[in-house]
Amino acid sequence: MNPTSEFELLPRDLTPYRRGNTGIDYVHRFESGRPGPHVLVNALTHGNEFCGMVAATHLLDTGVRPRIGTLTVSFANVAAYESFDPAKPLESRQLVHNMNRIWSAAWLDGAEDSPELSRARAMRPAVAAADHILDLHSTSTDVQPFWVYPQFARNADTALAIGRPAVHLVMPQGLGSGTPLIQHGRHGQAEGAGVALVAECGGHFRRASGELATEVALDFLAHFGLIERAPLAPKPPQQRFELLQTWVIKTPEFRFSRPLVGFETFDDGALIATDGAEEVRALCERCTVLMPTRRPIVGREGVYLARPLD
Ligand SMILES: [Zn+2]
Repeated sequence: MNPTSEFELLPRDLTPYRRGNTGIDYVHRFESGRPGPHVLVNALTHGNEFCGMVAATHLLDTGVRPRIGTLTVSFANVAAYESFDPAKPLESRQLVHNMNRIWSAAWLDGAEDSPELSRARAMRPAVAAADHILDLHSTSTDVQPFWVYPQFARNADTALAIGRPAVHLVMPQGLGSGTPLIQHGRHGQAEGAGVALVAECGGHFRRASGELATEVALDFLAHFGLIERAPLAPKPPQQRFELLQTWVIKTPEFRFSRPLVGFETFDDGALIATDGAEEVRALCERCTVLMPTRRPIVGREGVYLARPLD
């Protein structure tokens, strides 16, 4: 692929955003002085997912301020972001740990250290302080955008009310491969009150992903009353999937049975991939694959298998 056409989005210098006003680098907080929810919009949990950077810098550059409650805007894995190399565009996702799998007390309070653990520990008070969280992501292939969230009514109600992305991947049992930011603390608990959503906004390096991330961030703020903005109308038909299995790669021989980009469907029992001697097979009729890896690495997610809900 022509490198100039592959990268419609590239990193910009985030140094001017380093010094926030919370005592945590790259975390900015704006208080309205009026009662209302505290909403966090977070970018760059994965360092090469530039759409969140576009949305977060838009909020800061245009001076978006909450009319009620509190707005926090953060850039998470800036260290990985700054390591971006166009010759190896998938490598700056993380430096050591996947920053979207370490939000459990076991990891955060554990003895291990890495750039991601250190950053998550620094950001922990900002994440824990938020009532509602939007975590902006993108995908390695240019597939349709979709929400990802634990299967709590409060999450589904919000994502359906916003209406874009129009596709929803709901997780009845979490991710199965670690604790994502949106399941940190009370946001991972069924009886909790706070909404926490991931929006996968399209391909990592597509301009449209940055534009969608910005729209979704503004929609999210409007949903909770922080800004005034007309709801999306008409809302497109919504399509929901339930996560059945997260396949974590076990061997260097992991291979898909055919090239996949995401949203392909398989008949029950059909072969999706092989992983050494093991087979990854469809778990239901119209079993749908999401986020098939472009770069199989042992110990990382290879593919998500989901069931269409309606
Ligand atoms: Zn991501």
